[in-house]
Amino acid sequence: AHNLKHMFQLALVLLTGLLIKGGDVLESLAKIKIAAFDKTGTITRGEFCVEEFQTVGGRVPMQQLLYWVSSIESRSSHPMASVLVDYAQSKSVELKSDNVTEFQIYPGEGIYGEIDGEGVYIGNKRILSRASCETVPDMKDTKRVTIGYVACKEELIGVFTVSDSCRTGSAEAIKELRSLGIKSVMLTGDSAVAAAYAQNQLGNILDEVHSELLPEDKVRIVDELKAKYGPTLMIGDGMNDAPALAKADVGVSMGVSGSAVAMETSHITLMSNDIRRIPKAIQLARRTHRTII
Ligand code: ADP
Ligand code: MG
Repeated sequence: AHNLKHMFQLALVLLTGLLIKGGDVLESLAKIKIAAFDKTGTITRGEFCVEEFQTVGGRVPMQQLLYWVSSIESRSSHPMASVLVDYAQSKSVELKSDNVTEFQIYPGEGIYGEIDGEGVYIGNKRILSRASCETVPDMKDTKRVTIGYVACKEELIGVFTVSDSCRTGSAEAIKELRSLGIKSVMLTGDSAVAAAYAQNQLGNILDEVHSELLPEDKVRIVDELKAKYGPTLMIGDGMNDAPALAKADVGVSMGVSGSAVAMETSHITLMSNDIRRIPKAIQLARRTHRTII
């Protein structure tokens, strides 16, 4: 029976492109009423494009700023990190990750690193308060970008904007879920503006959009969805999604680009990152479930 189960699971991986951990997962999948999607790297590709990069204040020149940012980001696995590294490289700035003497991740906010004896924070608005930085600059609101800040010595030293786009299959997956009677919502750590832009790109098909969330906020909302709608599926790629993936009745992680901790915590890993596999798997689970009963 054990071997048979293994064969069944292997067949499932090949058929569905999903790595399903545990026998009860299909049963839970058949009962799902609502799906909560992370945005960055899940609904969107997580392949950012740097639109603008500016120094602020004049204390730290551009070359040094890019050297600091790329060296510290080289220690991060966030989707935004690699594009900042590439950007610095395209400006002929060499990164030195060995010079980063301390490194800290603040999920849903950004990162902190010590380089050449200076402490540097990189992230969203939340990271500025962590850096005890009071000046939040007025950025011209381009509606579709994520704004990043760099702070050092309680002072803003850089601002950048990056953009991302939705995966081709995202809207289709959400529509298919709807046809199965399943609602879809977005839970993101990104800004309200960036979240609204993604919702717009999807054709406004998400039932709810929640933005500027910390990892614990995602957990709380998953809990609320469970209470309000019933069995809840959560899908995400980041370490900031891991607690919410664990809280959901079914947690789904991204296999190609996802963080290790998200994959460990989830019940299902999408081997190809194709979220259209989720409605397919739910259909399959419903059928299998019926056959077994
Ligand atoms: P989402 O929940 O949509 O996947 P995240 O929680 O991963 O988004 O990130 C939330 C925000 O935190 C990002 O939009 C970004 O502004 C900031 N952030 C997180 N990690 C980093 C990083 N390594 N470098 C810069 N900014 C970061
Ligand atoms: Mg993410």
